[in-house]
Amino acid sequence: MQNSYDVAIVGAGPAGLCFARTLSGLGLSTLLIEKQSRTAIENPAIDGRDIALTHFSRKMLDALGMWEYLPPEAISTIREAKVFDGTSPRYMGLSSSETDHLAFIVSNHHIRAAAYAAVKDDANITLMDNVSLEQMELKDYVTELRLSKGQTIHAKLATAADSRFSETRRKAGISASMHDFGKSMIVCQMEHDLSHEGVAHECFHHGHTLAVLPLNGKRSSVIITLAPAEAERMMKISALELNAWVAEQFQYRLGNMRLDSERFAYPLVGVYADRFVAQRFALVGDAAVGMHPVTAHGFNFSLKSAHALCESIRAAMNTGSDIASAAVLARYEREHKQATKPLYLATSGIVRLYTNDSMPAKIARRVLLRAADRMLPIKSMMMAKLTEKESRDRGLSIPTPISVARHLLKVAA
Ligand SMILES: Cc1cc2nc3c(=O)[nH]c(=O)nc-3n(C[C@H](O)[C@H](O)[C@H](O)COP(=O)(O)OP(=O)(O)OC[C@H]3O[C@@H](n4cnc5c(N)ncnc54)[C@H](O)[C@@H]3O)c2cc1C
Repeated sequence: MQNSYDVAIVGAGPAGLCFARTLSGLGLSTLLIEKQSRTAIENPAIDGRDIALTHFSRKMLDALGMWEYLPPEAISTIREAKVFDGTSPRYMGLSSSETDHLAFIVSNHHIRAAAYAAVKDDANITLMDNVSLEQMELKDYVTELRLSKGQTIHAKLATAADSRFSETRRKAGISASMHDFGKSMIVCQMEHDLSHEGVAHECFHHGHTLAVLPLNGKRSSVIITLAPAEAERMMKISALELNAWVAEQFQYRLGNMRLDSERFAYPLVGVYADRFVAQRFALVGDAAVGMHPVTAHGFNFSLKSAHALCESIRAAMNTGSDIASAAVLARYEREHKQATKPLYLATSGIVRLYTNDSMPAKIARRVLLRAADRMLPIKSMMMAKLTEKESRDRGLSIPTPISVARHLLKVAA
């Protein structure tokens, strides 16, 4: 077996697979190192995550030859989004009257399967399964990776795509800021009596939050955030009890609701790596930025990281330079930080505020939501983020993400 590659990627999750395929477009040879078996990667287990994808992500998955592997019935769309505070009938709304839809929804296991299908016959990509990284040495001209099965691999660039709790990031000596929100998230799918009309709902109740995202037919993806002990209880109550609780919390907007899948629980921990690069080394996907799912940007950011790093490498290749030079990696780090940090900080601030049930926080929540609904710049930025369409098209000026995040945090503080 070959032991020298242009790029080695640890982790063949959605981020690793997409990054490998992007590199293949540049003609680079890539080794994917994955601890799961090939069978598990080819037929990924359902994990309850329904992923909201932006238009940029849809275009990128299309360009990578992955979108065509998604079963059409597995793709649903969001036409409108409404954010509620408590039981108040007022909401902040975003609608897609000028575009067909705000975003797409596809279950994570479908994305993983489609990503693998596009990669498996790619001559530039080698997948080594049932293996993990034992040691890594980042040298001046090459990286050396020693694997659990005894092989030693050399690559011009090593990358980590092995989740937000990345062991490879630690091996590279990169620290990360982690924020444990002290909450858990339960996800499941439900069917219901009434049509959702393509509307996604985020309801910030007191003590818990409830998001209901439209799937095809009279079905929705339900996401409940609550304290860990309460989440443990909700995982165990009968389906009938859960049905009644969700329908009531959702104020019967969709009539009666019935559980239509397993329930899955996730701890909520946000992670932001302090650096995205080291000598001949870079982080992509959740290993770089592990978002809180409330703003549905984790995988969308994974695709952005793959795109940004490949564009930096492409520029080096065009001038015949080293694909893993300090300059190439610094450009990637700069661009990916610019693309992610404001939303990461804004999301953390918003989550802290909307899971804080003190009286001042309750007042601030209501004021913020009403203000956001009236502030066209904020709405136009959210629309632009989702649709990747400049809102200047509509004669509005787009504020920078930094200015909006600052504004939101100021109101949230
Ligand atoms: C409930 C929930 C809802 C979400 N909703 C959205 C959404 O709506 N929109 C959105 O954009 N994102 C969403 N996300 C985030 C999205 O799921 C992640 O951003 C995405 O899965 C990250 O992919 P990844 O490949 O970086 O990491 P992972 O999916 O964690 O994959 C990591 C891979 O690395 C492998 N690995 C780990 N350690 C090693 C090792 N030491 N050696 C070899 N291999 C290793 C693992 O086996 C795995 O295959 C959601 C997340 C959750 C939890």
